[in-house]
Amino acid sequence: MDALEQFRADTRAWLEENCPPSMRTPMPEDESPWGGKRAVWKNPESKQWLDAMASKGWTAPQWPSEYGGGGLSKEENKVLQQELRRIKARPALMSFGIWMLGPALLEFANEEQKKEHLPKIVRGEIRWCQGYSEPGAGSDLAGLQTKCEDKGDHYLVNGQKIWTSYADKADWIFALVRTDTNVKHDGISFLLIDMEQDGVEARPITMISGASPFCETFFTDATAPKGNLVGELNKGWTIAKRLLQHEREMISGMGMGSGGGGTGLADLAKDYVGQAGGKISDATVRDSVARQKMDSHAFGLTLQRTTEEAKAGQGTGAASSIFKYYGTELNKRRNELIIELMGTQGLGWEGDSFSEAELSAPRSWLRSKGNSIEGGTTEVQLNVISKRVLGLPS
Ligand SMILES: Cc1cc2nc3c(=O)[nH]c(=O)nc-3n(C[C@H](O)[C@H](O)[C@H](O)COP(=O)(O)OP(=O)(O)OC[C@H]3O[C@@H](n4cnc5c(N)ncnc54)[C@H](O)[C@@H]3O)c2cc1C
Repeated sequence: MDALEQFRADTRAWLEENCPPSMRTPMPEDESPWGGKRAVWKNPESKQWLDAMASKGWTAPQWPSEYGGGGLSKEENKVLQQELRRIKARPALMSFGIWMLGPALLEFANEEQKKEHLPKIVRGEIRWCQGYSEPGAGSDLAGLQTKCEDKGDHYLVNGQKIWTSYADKADWIFALVRTDTNVKHDGISFLLIDMEQDGVEARPITMISGASPFCETFFTDATAPKGNLVGELNKGWTIAKRLLQHEREMISGMGMGSGGGGTGLADLAKDYVGQAGGKISDATVRDSVARQKMDSHAFGLTLQRTTEEAKAGQGTGAASSIFKYYGTELNKRRNELIIELMGTQGLGWEGDSFSEAELSAPRSWLRSKGNSIEGGTTEVQLNVISKRVLGLPS
């Protein structure tokens, strides 16, 4: 048996022993394992699963083991992901720290910052949120105004962020702040701010659905020690852009992870539209399902190939905009198709006449719209692709 096959056998045995039975079932939203100081574990096995995975560093399998990561090679990580999928394991941890901040820290932070923050991210001890957008600085992110002043031994922060997802549940925020008001891009710094202080207030924004995943985040004489500045003063824009590439890669893969590959669509179509001779009975629906499956499969393979080709830690550069654009549009199409297949049963919001899957369909459909806005809108991605990938003039 070669080393990789041995790794597969060991991993399979370990998962068999350590992945609790309820962690092999579909995950209800209220059991999402975001971690953090104020985490509430509705299902205690979620915490058990997180602790087990974190003890191996497998919540961040490819991060170096000196920072709590799994230290796995690309090939080993692929095996681990295959084995997790095989047993239909839930994610052990959902985390902006793992998806966005960690990769940026690995590239830009000093040793002390890495040692301080990365292991806590791996173990899900600290929940992070992202303080990028401001009123008037969304797509034109470099127009941000949140002011950060050097007060000798610390920084003083005043200003407002908006659309800060889950800020009211987060412990820390990674924020872009203005440290020079005379220049635009070269006057931005990347600062880590502890939210457990009087100067930080996160006010939830309630949406039409009644949910409030977003907050307005206010800084009023908030402070951060000098050691919380990542990279150089006024050079935060480079870090901001790299982090956005990680965010875009993560978002573009989201639809695929949730079955965006077309998995389950044919069965859904047979259940709702009918079947004849083992096939979806309606030829037009059959065509739509086949098209979605083929496009998703081709996208998934391209995503995988490019990710593997990208140099370790460097991400896919401006090409991440291609994936963000196509992945989120594909995810929107998939959600449209599900609603179409379910017919009027796909339009329910509450009530006993709808199954759980039917009730979640319109919510997922609505959420998929946000996909093509968060991390930079579709229009902005098309601008990046035309300029940075195709080299077209502005
Ligand atoms: C689900 C979700 C989660 C989010 N989470 C966070 C978070 O955690 N932290 C955070 O900081 N932000 C977050 N955001 C905010 C998000 O990053 C911004 O909404 C996004 O960058 C767009 O900015 P805006 O809303 O100000 O729109 P605007 O910039 O005002 O854009 C409005 C419209 O104009 C278009 N437009 C703007 N400029 C151009 C241009 N140059 N060319 C062509 N079209 C253009 C846009 O595409 C869009 O359609 C989240 C957003 C969503 C939807």
